[in-house]
Amino acid sequence: MEISKGISKNSLGYVPKRPPVDIEFQDLTYTVPQGRKGSKMILRSVSGEFKSGQLNAILGPSGSGKSTLLNILAGYKCRGATGSILINGEPRHLKRFRKMSRYIMQDDLIQPMLTVEEAMMVAADLKLNMPKMEKINTITEILELLRLSGSSKTSTNMLSGGETKRLAIALELLNNPPVLFLDEPTTGLDDMSSTQCIHLLKQIAEGGRTVICSIHTPSAKLFSVFDNVYIIAAGQCVYQGYGPEVVPFLSNLGIECPKHYNPADFIIEVCCMEYGDYHERMVTAVDNGRANCSSKCIPVASMDEISLDNSISLIKEDPVLSEENFNHHQSGWMRQFYILVMRMWLQMWRDKCYLLLRVCLYLAVGILIGNLYIGMGQDGSKTIFNFGFYFTCLIFFMYIPMMPILSQFPREVQLLKREHFNKWYRLSAYFAALTVSTIPVQVILGTVYVLLVYTLSDQPMEIDRLLMFYLVCMLTGIVSESLGLLIASQLTIVNAVFVGPVLTVPFMLLAVYGFGSGYDTIPTLIKIAMYFSYLRYSLEGLIHSMLKDRQKLDCPESEEYCIYTDLNYFIKEMGMENTIYWLDIAALIFILVLFRGGSYYLLRQRLSPNKTFLALQYIGRFLKSHMGMTR
Ligand code: ADP
Ligand code: MG
Repeated sequence: MEISKGISKNSLGYVPKRPPVDIEFQDLTYTVPQGRKGSKMILRSVSGEFKSGQLNAILGPSGSGKSTLLNILAGYKCRGATGSILINGEPRHLKRFRKMSRYIMQDDLIQPMLTVEEAMMVAADLKLNMPKMEKINTITEILELLRLSGSSKTSTNMLSGGETKRLAIALELLNNPPVLFLDEPTTGLDDMSSTQCIHLLKQIAEGGRTVICSIHTPSAKLFSVFDNVYIIAAGQCVYQGYGPEVVPFLSNLGIECPKHYNPADFIIEVCCMEYGDYHERMVTAVDNGRANCSSKCIPVASMDEISLDNSISLIKEDPVLSEENFNHHQSGWMRQFYILVMRMWLQMWRDKCYLLLRVCLYLAVGILIGNLYIGMGQDGSKTIFNFGFYFTCLIFFMYIPMMPILSQFPREVQLLKREHFNKWYRLSAYFAALTVSTIPVQVILGTVYVLLVYTLSDQPMEIDRLLMFYLVCMLTGIVSESLGLLIASQLTIVNAVFVGPVLTVPFMLLAVYGFGSGYDTIPTLIKIAMYFSYLRYSLEGLIHSMLKDRQKLDCPESEEYCIYTDLNYFIKEMGMENTIYWLDIAALIFILVLFRGGSYYLLRQRLSPNKTFLALQYIGRFLKSHMGMTR
């Protein structure tokens, strides 16, 4: 075939040989709960085997359970699955298996704003621990193999569908995983690209790795490229074996494939019952996939959900497949952190439009607010206006840093899920990088804004007060950003952008509740509630730093009477005469740690939920299905 011409069989020579990994599964059943109706069985007691060195394909009509089977085999989803999975004849140890397998999902998400080369370099830096030259050679080799050399300088946002798919594969090929799962790698590709893609996978398999991909209606030519085809219909196995042999198999059952007809198309049509109901007969003929398994005579104790999940701690360590064998290449925590911060900064820098937009926003709002409150800082008749100015500043630092997180992070979580699942880095390194990466822009823009409004509104020109003002504003911004992260780590973009601003309304209300009628008139319960709003601490901090112990303000001659020329009296009216600035700062820092810690915990649970979290999720799903809510 001319497509594979030019690529030598040994083109994956840069990589060390990996031990073969054979995967066998028995009696896999997967059920999902479905509201009041009970549950839905997606996989029905299927068995089968995927061998190393072969190109394995999972075929079947859409909705037959291909992705589900891949998810379970790859260990991406385990809840609700029962049965057993054997790796080289031993029960699968999920943690160990995850370290040697990579999963390329159907909707291939790639980090935006990087070139192909940069994306590869970041992945190589994270995954490979070798001299830079070697890394470059490896990348060049893989890019060549995947025919991506021509677009190595292209931004990942601009790649065509086929190139994106190939890049997704290239990124995972870097550290030469022994097991590769791919969900529909050819869907959405043209004929030429799918042929290239399958031939590439064939090469990888021939290199001694286990390649399992699900595929949707391959051409007759491609169908014969697969060494092993596993056909699944309505959650049951209807055929396993060499592709073209499916025709005699069907013929034995009394179904004749017309001449010059694509056997792959034909079997899918048979599965969809276009020629009558042969489903049961096919399932019986292959014993639901068990017929071809090598260890079919070995009775394997049925495992429950938990053992599928992992936890077989008694299995003896296989020296060849031990964790160190696959992990000694991984970079350390600090290095991961550094690479991720650099990647985030590069992406931020590349997104010039957005950066410019933010600069303009800070400047425009700064000038607007500065001019609205121009010269009010030292005017005895404008004390209440001045108070409004402080509150406006807080609202600015509450919303502006939160919104980008709400609108970007839910998408980022999807990427994080992939990369983290494929063991690119540790979550803690990612989270630390995320925390650090937003600080410089926020500090620079925040400083510009604060200086602008501070001078325009004629606040006291004392360095202490300015610094105290600045600190409160910055802290408020970072706390709000953390709150945004907390929300965005759990919700979709649409929901996050709705929930974020709505949730901040009570914070604002509680911060200034009772303003104007005197603090003493507020019921005790509400007074307590006010201290749950972080904006209250910010406001106290601002009022304290800006108004406390200042000289009596002058009342302009044009005014007959000024209520609040005595600022300490104003502070008393606000119920803030006893506040301690550093206590407010401490409270803000405490809330910051709480929000950040909470986001980290929730994100961790999102990636690999523990029992409590699963129970909560279950309750959530239950409520949703019973209240008819859709997400
Ligand atoms: P495909 O073969 O197209 O990849 P899938 O494995 O994605 O099919 O899904 C198989 C069937 O299971 C589909 O009918 C799908 O709607 C259903 N399904 C998958 N996941 C869930 C879920 N979490 N809840 C309910 N139904 C699901
Ligand atoms: Mg699918």
